[in-house]
Amino acid sequence: MKGIVYLVGAGPGDPGLITLKGIQCIKTADVIVYDRLASPVLLEERKNNCKLIYVGKSPKHHTKTQSEINEILFQEAKAGNRVVRLKGGDPYVFGRGGEEGEYLYNRNIPFEVVPGITSAIGGLAYGGIPITHRGLARSFHVITGHLKDEYEEINWEALAALDGTIVFLMGVSNLEKISRNLIKNGKDENTPVAIINWATTPRQKIVKGTLSNIYEKALKENIKPPSLIVIGDVVDLRDSLSFYEKKPLFGRNIVITRGTTQQGDIINKLIELGANAISIPTIEIKEIKSNIRLDKAIIDIDKYNYIIFTSINGANIFFKRLFELGYDARKIADIKVGAVGSSTAKAIGEYGINVDFIPKEYRGEGLVNELKSKLSKEDKVLIPRAKNGRPYIVEELSKICMVEEIKTYETVKATEDSEYMIESLKELDSYYILFSSPTTFINFKKIA
Ligand code: SAH
Repeated sequence: MKGIVYLVGAGPGDPGLITLKGIQCIKTADVIVYDRLASPVLLEERKNNCKLIYVGKSPKHHTKTQSEINEILFQEAKAGNRVVRLKGGDPYVFGRGGEEGEYLYNRNIPFEVVPGITSAIGGLAYGGIPITHRGLARSFHVITGHLKDEYEEINWEALAALDGTIVFLMGVSNLEKISRNLIKNGKDENTPVAIINWATTPRQKIVKGTLSNIYEKALKENIKPPSLIVIGDVVDLRDSLSFYEKKPLFGRNIVITRGTTQQGDIINKLIELGANAISIPTIEIKEIKSNIRLDKAIIDIDKYNYIIFTSINGANIFFKRLFELGYDARKIADIKVGAVGSSTAKAIGEYGINVDFIPKEYRGEGLVNELKSKLSKEDKVLIPRAKNGRPYIVEELSKICMVEEIKTYETVKATEDSEYMIESLKELDSYYILFSSPTTFINFKKIA
C-alpha cells in the first residue's frame, strides 16, 4: 500500500472549528503528527491503533526541528501509512506546511492539504473583532512578529501607512518593538489594539489598549504566547460583537467525574455554556457476563407485566442481550416500560420503544410514589440494574407485588489515567467538581 500525507488545519483551538474533511482524515489516519496548538480533543477521534507523534514547539524551545519533522512525515508515509500532519489554524499560514509539502514532493510522496480556519481570522471573531468592517477596514494584513532583525524584515513605513486591519502572529515577545516602530513611522498612537491570548479556548483572555499603551498593559496582565495582536479600528467593535466571553460559564473550569459512557451530553452542554469541561472519569461500567438470570428473564419475559429501567446502562445491557438472543423489540410488546429519568427514556426510545411512564422525580422515591398508585398485588415487575444500586426501590415495591431485580452490571473505580488528570488540576486557579452519585465522590476521593 502506498502512503500519503495530509496536511490538516485543526482550526484555532475550539475543536468544533475543524473542517469535516479534517475530522475524516483524523478518523482514518494510521499516524498523527501534531503539535501544541491543535486541540487534544481532536486526537480522541483517532482510530484505536493510530500512532501519535508529538512534535510540538514552544517559542524558544524546539522539541523537533523542521527538518526532523519533514523526515518523520516522509518515513511514516514511505512505510505505507496514512499520515496526518495536524497543525493549529491553517497549515499554510505561518505553519510551514509549504516546506513539508515540498519535501514530500521531492521524494515522490503524495500529499493533500486540508485548509483550516486560521487564528488570524477565527481567533479575532471569538474575541468579538471582525477582521474587516464596512467603513472601518477594507483590507487586512497578517504578519509574522517573529523577527530576527526587525529593520531588515519589515517595511515599517509601508506598514504604518496601511489603513486596513493588521494582525501579528507570534508577536507578543516583540510587542514593544512593533508598537514603537509603527508609531515612529506615522501610525496614530491612539489606534486601538487588542491582544488575544489562547483565542477560541476557555482560556481566552483579551487585553485592549492603544498603540501607545498596549505594551505596558500586556506586561501588567502577563500575556504570553500564543497570542494574536490586532491593530485597527475594528478592535472597538468588540464592545458589541463579543459573544464568546459573555457565555454564562465562560472561564470556569468544571470537572466531570462520571464514567465516559455517560458523559457525552453533560460535556457538550457545559461547552455550549462556555465552560472548560474537564473529564476525569472515576467510574467504569462493568457488565456482568454469562448472566443466566438475565437470559432466563428475557426468554420468559411474558411472565412480567412491568419492566423498569433505572439507568441508561441498565437499558443498553438489557436490549443488547435481547437482540443477541435473537429477539427484537416486539418481544416486550405487551409489557409496560418505565424509565427513571428522561435520558434513560431516550436511550430506550432508540430501541423503538416509547416508555409508558417517567416518574416526575428522577430518583427511587419518585418512582416508588408513582408506581404505588399503578401496581396491584397480581403485578410482576422486572428491574434489570446495577449491582451496587440502592436497595430502596426493590424493598418498597416488594411490599406491593412480586419484584425481580436482576443485576446486570456494576460500577467500578476507573483506572490509572485519572490519577494523572487529578494531579494536573493543580495548575488551575480554581475549579468546580460535579459529583453525580455517591460512588463518583467516593472514587474521586480514593484516586486523589
Ligand atoms: N497556522 C496557524 C499559525 C501558526 S503560527 C494559524 O493559521 O493560526 C503560531 C502563532 O499563531 C502563535 O504564536 C499565535 O500568534 C497564533 N495563534 C495560533 N493559535 C492561536 C490561539 N488559539 N490564540 C492566539 N493566538 C494563536
